[in-house]
Amino acid sequence: MREAGKIAGGARALAASLCKPGVSMLDIDRKVYAYITHHKATPSFLNYGGFPNSVCISINDVVIHGIPSERKLKEGDIVSIDVGAKFKGFHGDCAETVAVGEISDEAKKLIEVTKQSFFEGLKMAKTGNRLGDISNAIGTYAESFGYGVVDKYVGHGVGRELHEDPPVPNFGRPGRGIRLRDGLALAIEPMINAGTRDVYVDDDKWTVHTADGKLSAHYENTVVIMGDEPIITTIVE
Ligand code: MG
Repeated sequence: MREAGKIAGGARALAASLCKPGVSMLDIDRKVYAYITHHKATPSFLNYGGFPNSVCISINDVVIHGIPSERKLKEGDIVSIDVGAKFKGFHGDCAETVAVGEISDEAKKLIEVTKQSFFEGLKMAKTGNRLGDISNAIGTYAESFGYGVVDKYVGHGVGRELHEDPPVPNFGRPGRGIRLRDGLALAIEPMINAGTRDVYVDDDKWTVHTADGKLSAHYENTVVIMGDEPIITTIVE
């Protein structure tokens, strides 16, 4: 899990570094594919349920599952990169929203709050707590800024499969859900909208947009519960 996470995290960092005006989504996808395969891993998303690429690239009002195309990134875009890698039978899964050049203060705040909401959830990711403690911490934090917490898509267990039980919602009640135990691996991934939580799926059957056309941000790491100090496999130093 550590090795797979390191490769996924490295791929996320690479993709983030490529988010510059004029770079196409497919340029990023090709470089991420090369990075993951160079590290003797396989891109977890490629052909997953028919997904055609190695990275989900979701721009501006796209929440998740954006399919890379020839579209070039523009100054002012916010770009959510979501990438997974499978190494020696285990997956790492992570995401981050990054700015292309200068972005609005509104967009910066959404990105920061989304990232911080993950870390608010992480504070509760301790052995003996309940899953709902994580979910509640994420949702409560994001909602305190008036943002919409996406509820149609949630985080998940991760390990030998990319998506395993339990579902990890970004909202919920503390003290509810399964009890966290050592070794439980979770992909914790707040998806936060600047406007309402409502979303719809594009005709391409993948791309998830905000219903009101406002911005959305995403932040994710693979986290292994271990006592009071969870292991984050996908953050690379
Ligand atoms: Mg995930």
